[in-house]
Amino acid sequence: MDKLKTNWFTESCDMWPGGTFSFEVKEVLHTEKSKYQNIQVFDTTSLGKVLVLDGIIQCTQKDEFSYQEMISFLPLCCHKNPENVLIVGGGDGGVAREVAKHPQVKHIVLVEIDDRVIELSKRYLPFMAVGFDSPKLTLHVGDGFEFMKNHRQEFDVIITDSSDPVGPAVNLFQENYFSLMKSALKPDGIVCSQAGTIWNDIELVTNTLNFCKNQFPAAAYCYTSVPTYPSGQIGFVIGSLTKDIKFNEPQLTFTRDEEEAMNLRYYNSEVHRAAFALPTFVKYKLA
Ligand code: SAM
Repeated sequence: MDKLKTNWFTESCDMWPGGTFSFEVKEVLHTEKSKYQNIQVFDTTSLGKVLVLDGIIQCTQKDEFSYQEMISFLPLCCHKNPENVLIVGGGDGGVAREVAKHPQVKHIVLVEIDDRVIELSKRYLPFMAVGFDSPKLTLHVGDGFEFMKNHRQEFDVIITDSSDPVGPAVNLFQENYFSLMKSALKPDGIVCSQAGTIWNDIELVTNTLNFCKNQFPAAAYCYTSVPTYPSGQIGFVIGSLTKDIKFNEPQLTFTRDEEEAMNLRYYNSEVHRAAFALPTFVKYKLA
């Protein structure tokens, strides 16, 4: 217990009471309270560098690629030609890093509310913040919800890489956010939003999917594994303006050479298809 008090970080959040995840800290690299949230960056003995916002793990060097690749390539590969992409959140740069790899993507706009997350990621988490170096990227510091109100029929794909629905992220989990995203999409556009875990909060998953279903003619839940997130699983709600889209059939597949050239370590077309296959208790709950 002494060790837990002195050298270990323990995640705690009201959203998942009664259980928690801890990791051993080698060094506290940074801690501050920004205008929007508490920000901590750690070097650890088993997970590499770790970013924590308001006490909740956002990404670890060990497993971030699973989340970043899947939230990016699932919607991008569902679209026939995803030239213009909007990322909301994503201040660590990891999703921008992945989106920039897609051969059809020409322009990326990233809207992050907290410039301190961007600055600290550039300083301590360059393996993700490399995404900000892409010549395809335009950075906008501001609220993604407000940004959406001023954009009409501009984007092929909108990816919401948000923190959990607390603080500045609450609005990004509401139905009117899905309505605003619909207006910001081109006619065959696709949205993909972080949507929580089936193990700890299936009601959040159900509500977020229902908001998406109410606004989009086609909607589905898909997921990946991220061992350092609560319960080790995280899902995404994906919606399309194309009614008869088959989400589990990628429009573009990559050869092994292409996967290696893009340094894809998790995403491939088999994983894409499997990501939409739901366990029985989830399939009927979300139907
Ligand atoms: N992969 C992570 C996860 O699922 O926990 C999310 C990572 S990324 C760091 C989340 C970002 O969303 C944070 O940097 C946060 O500042 C940003 N964010 C939260 N609310 C926002 C809003 N309303 N508009 C834009 N960015 C927002």
